[in-house]
Amino acid sequence: MSEVFKGSFTQQEAIPEAGIEAALAVMRHGRLHRYNTVAGELSETALLEQEFAASVGAPYCLAVASGGYAMATALRAVGVKPGDHVLSNAFTLAPVPGAIAAVGAVPVFVGVTDALTIDLDDLESKTDRARVLLLSHMRGHICDMERLMRLCDTAGITVIEDCAHTMGAAWKGVPSGRSGAVGCYSCQTYKHVNSGEGGFLVTGDAEIAARAVMMSGSYMLYERHLAAPPKEAFETIRYETPNISGRMDNLRAAILRPQVADLATQCARWNERYYRLEEGLRGTPGLKVIDRPEEETIVGSSIQFLLLDWQAEAVREVIARCGARGVELKWFGAPEPVAFTSRYDSWRYAPSAPMPDSDRILAGVVDMRVPLTFSLEDCDLIARIIRSEVGAVWQDAA
Ligand SMILES: *Cc1c(COP(=O)(O)O)cnc(C)c1O
Repeated sequence: MSEVFKGSFTQQEAIPEAGIEAALAVMRHGRLHRYNTVAGELSETALLEQEFAASVGAPYCLAVASGGYAMATALRAVGVKPGDHVLSNAFTLAPVPGAIAAVGAVPVFVGVTDALTIDLDDLESKTDRARVLLLSHMRGHICDMERLMRLCDTAGITVIEDCAHTMGAAWKGVPSGRSGAVGCYSCQTYKHVNSGEGGFLVTGDAEIAARAVMMSGSYMLYERHLAAPPKEAFETIRYETPNISGRMDNLRAAILRPQVADLATQCARWNERYYRLEEGLRGTPGLKVIDRPEEETIVGSSIQFLLLDWQAEAVREVIARCGARGVELKWFGAPEPVAFTSRYDSWRYAPSAPMPDSDRILAGVVDMRVPLTFSLEDCDLIARIIRSEVGAVWQDAA
């Protein structure tokens, strides 16, 4: 009799009690708009920005309505104009090319390696195509950030980091989002902190920060921020920058503050689960575990493995058999987009040339969420199920 997993891959933990209490307090006083404060009051949103900035060592932080909004705002703030080309990953999710398209710019896709990071050789060959790179740390995999920054600095390319999957992660101790000019994060339910929707951008550049604050809809109230540049930085920017409203509100900020404070603990819990799964999968014939470089401090909120050079039918078979035993896997090789999963050639508004090396990798990428509601025993069970089903299909194919 074969084991079946009964848990949910989309069930996150409850909001911490401290967040619920703080949210109730905001609802009771009714001042949900971030600039709606009484004398001497610091808004939940301003405090959240100050605390998140401190957590990643950033001079400036802006909380916004979504991760997608943070990326589009960052692109605008570094000067991307309609018609410009912007480099980005072929292996990412739809909000990334979408943010580029939102500002009227055109994505130029860069390939993916078998470490699931951006192909730096391919990037090097495309540096004359754009002035900006929107770098997605897709599924938490961080490339050699020193080489990437050297390459981009030399070519005069501004780097914006999409840290939707790397909040709390680092490369050689540098928090993800702090190597490029701007780091963007998401606070959407499936990310590392959960306010339903929401996002952050961080930067060390006062001008970029001031533009982003104005764009987000600060009107002339930017002095009520605690992690924005001093008012001198707004002197001319305030006349030149359009308001493209996308503010964070105090209710979400109240929910998020205790989660930001607790992020390191949560990341450690994700990693316990990740390494338990990894250990269970390692050595499965036909299955390639993604080895994580020692320079990387990971947050294992999802896990990927490769069924490299398998027939599409066999991968489908593995996914179906695991699904029948309660283990929900996603496949980046499917020709049609499914749920959250799509690939660079699904985004038909952004023309792309075929990338055979990347296609080979994407055809083998299998992806699984690791919510914190899973116990370590759940992880052992899931790994046993994947191991046995991959093994069964592999044997049939051999
Ligand atoms: C979720 C996500 C974002 C941004 O998400 P929002 O839903 O707009 O907050 C950006 N990049 C990646 C890779 C994502 O998965």
